[in-house]
Amino acid sequence: MLKKVLIANRGEIALRVLRACREMGIATVAVHSEADKDSLHVKLADESVCIGPAPSPQSYLYIPALIAAAEVTHADGIHPGYGFLAENASFAEQVEHSGFVFIGPRADTIRLMGDKVSAKKAMLEAGVPCVPGSDGALPDNPDEILKIADKVGFPVIIKASGGGGGRGMRVVERKEDLLKAVEMTKAEAEAAFGNPMVYMERFLQRPRHIEIQVLADEHGNAIYLGERDCSMQRRHQKIIEEAPAPFITEEERRRIGESCAAACRRIRYRGAGTFEFLYEDGEFFFIEMNTRVQVEHPITELVTGVDIVREQLRIAAGMPLAYAQDDIRLQGHAFECRINAEDPYNFIPSPGMIESCHLPGGFGVRVDSHIYQGYRIPPNYDSLIGKICVHGEDRAQAVAKMRVALDELAVTGIKTNAALHRDLFRDKGFVDGGVSIHYLEHWLAERKAQLSK
Ligand code: ADP
Repeated sequence: MLKKVLIANRGEIALRVLRACREMGIATVAVHSEADKDSLHVKLADESVCIGPAPSPQSYLYIPALIAAAEVTHADGIHPGYGFLAENASFAEQVEHSGFVFIGPRADTIRLMGDKVSAKKAMLEAGVPCVPGSDGALPDNPDEILKIADKVGFPVIIKASGGGGGRGMRVVERKEDLLKAVEMTKAEAEAAFGNPMVYMERFLQRPRHIEIQVLADEHGNAIYLGERDCSMQRRHQKIIEEAPAPFITEEERRRIGESCAAACRRIRYRGAGTFEFLYEDGEFFFIEMNTRVQVEHPITELVTGVDIVREQLRIAAGMPLAYAQDDIRLQGHAFECRINAEDPYNFIPSPGMIESCHLPGGFGVRVDSHIYQGYRIPPNYDSLIGKICVHGEDRAQAVAKMRVALDELAVTGIKTNAALHRDLFRDKGFVDGGVSIHYLEHWLAERKAQLSK
């Protein structure tokens, strides 16, 4: 087993990894920027190292500082969490070249999956169904681009091969807007991701976002842990997730899950990962793979009983998976609400001092959060301040539990989006289940219209 793990992250995920390490008797090293010296993960870690000033390019994204921190503390493994460097192949490479274990897939796998064009190609070869679209990157020739669009069928979506985090995408409804949209997306992709390559997909009208959690070890074993429905999105960012996905049959789950596990074996995947799909009219279409632990992993843990971070640590240490596919049974229903420090109406971030804070609890309630009374949320990072998850016997019970949990949440000093979640968990359409990825945007537009009356 690993003896000491450096956690190259902050916030709730740093805490999540730290807890798993402590349970397993692994010593922990926290890293932090100057803005994060009072963070909970720093207080709870065995050791901590300040790696730079508040801006993340000079701290959480600054590879030499992270490697140096691992060297001076004699860590043997590095866990990247999510975001920051978690899907940076060069980071994984440098970690391993410096003699540390990278707790994630091999660098070449991260590179393959980090480029969406190469990821789609690999998935098609592995027999995983993809969204119909261009065969790889779009060519430069305008006539050819128009021809491809005609074949794919409007509306289309132009996506950056190097894109992520909901950025680098543009929907095109009409042929006359296509070439300009391609040029603009290319320019943005070049500026944001240093890679101007874009590709085209059919823009699905009312799909759901359904993703499959996988685990794979270095001994050729790969399993799937069921699916999550993450259709409740604002600006392509997930807000609420649930497991299992409503109305997905045992047979559908088995078919798509097995195809993901087979793809893992084929690309010799290592660690935890997620295959993201759009689901429409009974069909799954692969959109991308995340080669890391995801924000919404707890709901899968709740319905399967599998500690995903613990498995990541075991796999990184070279151990075989602790579970076979037959050991995985889904039980009950789980939801996650992402709690952000932001205005629940206009979504403007609301950093600052937490004057008081009461977090919900009780049977079937799990809160992953790094906030506490007196903690000052720095303005420099993501606005996620915690996740409220609930696990009920069935979906209706989980909805009831989430309503109660949200009503208990009381944070003062800053604004949070809790009021939005409270409204959504009383919205008939969402509570009935199975909404598309556009549902929340429409709901928000309607709310805005109502409020301005
Ligand atoms: P990112 O890496 O930025 O998260 P994804 O490829 O995972 O990008 O897409 C994010 C979201 O964008 C999806 O969950 C979905 O809401 C929307 N989206 C992506 N591709 C399509 C498509 N072909 N049709 C409709 N919506 C799409």
